[in-house]
Parts: sequence; C-alpha cells; structure tokens
Amino acid sequence: MADHSQCSSSVSKDDAAMTHPANSLPGLMTRSEAELRQAFLKQVELIPAGERIKRCIQCGTCTGSCPVSYAMDISPRQVIALFRAGEMETIMESRTIWICASCYACTTRCPSGIKITDIIYALKRTAMEKDRKSRAPQVQLLAKLFVSNLMSYGRLHEGTLIRKYYMKTRITKLFGFIPLARKLYRTKRLALLPKRIHAHAALSRIISKAQEIEMRAAPEPLAYSPEYVGYKGLGDLKLETRKGA
Ligand code: SF4
Ligand code: SF4
Repeated sequence: MADHSQCSSSVSKDDAAMTHPANSLPGLMTRSEAELRQAFLKQVELIPAGERIKRCIQCGTCTGSCPVSYAMDISPRQVIALFRAGEMETIMESRTIWICASCYACTTRCPSGIKITDIIYALKRTAMEKDRKSRAPQVQLLAKLFVSNLMSYGRLHEGTLIRKYYMKTRITKLFGFIPLARKLYRTKRLALLPKRIHAHAALSRIISKAQEIEMRAAPEPLAYSPEYVGYKGLGDLKLETRKGA
C-alpha cells in the first residue's frame, strides 16, 4: 500500500484539494477554473454597475436581440448561466466572446440592466490575460489583427486586415479575393494602401495611457477557494440601487 504521508509535505493543501475526486462534483471546480473566475471577477469590478450580473433572470432577451447569435456556439444568455455554474473554461473556449460585434443591443434591452457587452469584453480580456485559446482560433486571430490594424493606422484598412488574416490561415484563399478587390478599388471603395489618420500619434498616446492605467489597476489575486461558484465571488460587491427601487 502506498505511503501517502511521505509525499504530503511537498503537496500544498490546495493542490491536494484540486486532485481530490470531489472536485469533479457539482459545486466544486478545478484550480484553473477558479483562477479564470477570479481574473474575470476582477474585470467585472472595473465595469460600472458590473455587479448587476447577479440579477440575470435567464429571460433570453439578450440572445433574442443579438444579431450574430446564429454564429455563436453559446448564446449571451448561456454565457451568464455558464459563469454562474462555474464553467468559465467552457466560455473561454467558445467562439462567442470573439464573435460579439459590440452592438450593445443586448445591453440596451436587458430587463435587469446587465451590461452584457461589457461583460463579454471582460471575458475577452480575461482570455487574453490568461492566454486562453478559443476552440475557433481563427476568430481570436481576426479579433487580434483587427485591434493591431487600428493601433497601426488609427482606423481600419480592410485590405491589410484580410491579407494578414489569410496569410496566417489559408493563403490560397487570399487569391480568390483578387477579383473582388479589383472591383472595390475601381469603384473607390477600397484604398490600395493604408493611410494613417492625422491624429494617429495622439490616439496612440491615449491607448498607451489606457494600458498604463489598466496595469496600475491590476488586482492582487484573491485567496483560492475550491468552492468559488455561483455568485459567491461577487459577495462583497454592493448591488447598485436604482432610483425609486
Ligand atoms: S437579457 Fe439580461 S436578464 Fe435576460 S438572460 Fe440576458 S442577461 Fe439575463
Ligand atoms: S453586444 Fe455582442 S452579444 Fe450583445 S447583442 Fe451585440 S453582438 Fe450580441
């Protein structure tokens, strides 16, 4: 029979807790799940009235309002439900957070006042911070290239975005766009070369400043708890009171 007492000194209490079969039971979660959750909750704290996430009644209005939900693998409503159920890893692997077009339709219609668009941004930031890969990496790549395009020129240059995207994914498909690109160029709907906006330097300074502020606001990690499910992580956040409520 193995002597477990000899190895107990090199295994922390938390590690032991995470390897315990009980952690696969409903209500308990893995260490990586807990870390994702903690990182996400810290992002939620930075969203004004972010604690309203607690108010979700699972009505599905957000999903019904979303113009791109047909392309998502989990709906906006399910994102909230999965967060509540301690399924952050499922959310991180999904296409959904990268497909969101930030149209704010869900946010404006949510009867509980939940800022779903900002919640999805927080999930994206968590995925980037924790270097989590989506099940559909091309969606994540497109989102990254989109941002880097904006950072380079201050606005989007479609030609550069498409070229870089297909060079990193399926270069042969890029040639199929040549007739369309010619047509768009002839009708002056596509600039051949990217042009920077006049205030590009100022925009870069704003983005750098925002990144600096975000770094300063980087929170200390919370104490790990294998029972960190539901809305427990939001326990200290006060629910915002509505006028007349
Ligand atoms: S609309 Fe709001 S309350 Fe309804 S499911 Fe979506 S997030 Fe929850
Ligand atoms: S903000 Fe995103 S999730 Fe919300 S409706 Fe628009 S595309 Fe859908």
